[in-house]
Amino acid sequence: MTPTATAPALSPSEASARLRVAPSAARPAHVISMANQKGGVAKTTSTVNLSAALKEQGKRVLAVDLDPQSNLTMSFGINPETLEKSMFDVLVHREPIANVVHQREVDVAAASIDLAGAELALASAIGRERTLEKAIAAVRMDYDYILIDTPPSLGLLTINAFTASNGVIVPVQCEYLSLRGLVQLETTLQMIRENLNGEVRIEGILPTMVDKRTVHAREAIDLLTENFGDIVFKTRIRKSVKLAEAPVRGGSVLSYQPDGPGAMSYRALAEEVLSRDE
Ligand code: ATP
Ligand code: MG
Repeated sequence: MTPTATAPALSPSEASARLRVAPSAARPAHVISMANQKGGVAKTTSTVNLSAALKEQGKRVLAVDLDPQSNLTMSFGINPETLEKSMFDVLVHREPIANVVHQREVDVAAASIDLAGAELALASAIGRERTLEKAIAAVRMDYDYILIDTPPSLGLLTINAFTASNGVIVPVQCEYLSLRGLVQLETTLQMIRENLNGEVRIEGILPTMVDKRTVHAREAIDLLTENFGDIVFKTRIRKSVKLAEAPVRGGSVLSYQPDGPGAMSYRALAEEVLSRDE
């Protein structure tokens, strides 16, 4: 008989005591940048609504506004002009990110127009590409998902976002699909992988503002799947005026019109993101 076979069975109380001391399965937040250097493709809309949909699934979510336009901040009903501290202070003055978080539908790290000065302020700083990664490290165990809304450029703010991220979701507006733009984005990511963050990849391409009635939208989606295959999400976000109205009410479409098509689409996206992450 082997020694292990003779080991006495644990009493129920001993077993439960062991369970209590077992390390929890907590893991650091999965960090996703929402990025496309093209403007107006629904980066912010997708950050707001995917954040809210992940929260609805019981996840702890932080949405980070890394765009000086502050549209994400405003979409959650926060006035950027009245902020005492914002993402500018986090990046430039090393303010702890927790100090600029506002509790709304999800936690929101808020930005204001000041952030436009951050690229210049950081330009000569050592480790300038890793500033956001370092700031986020302090709260990564507090969340399951951290979503970063980026500006429509591939400048230092977006590079900070890529360096801090596990993956990138690229919303594309199918009406004006630009494959060249996607190639340029991938080239930037390749540079980030070689120099700053070996892991970061396009986690998914999200067709947005899809008008199913037009042949062009269908052709654009076919072209996307031909070129990028499985990384194109199965979820397509259709055109819906409610998605444009929700931010005026200071929240996601999931709270504004919970049973509408916009809410359903972003719930479907959240399920895809969760299943890809497992
Ligand atoms: P920017 O590059 O300026 O940051 P963006 O990529 O973040 O833009 P959004 O601001 O999210 O894009 O969206 C652009 C506009 O399109 C907004 O007015 C938004 O309300 C609207 N919009 C986004 N998604 C949809 C949709 N599915 N249906 C209708 N309108 C939409
Ligand atoms: Mg935006």
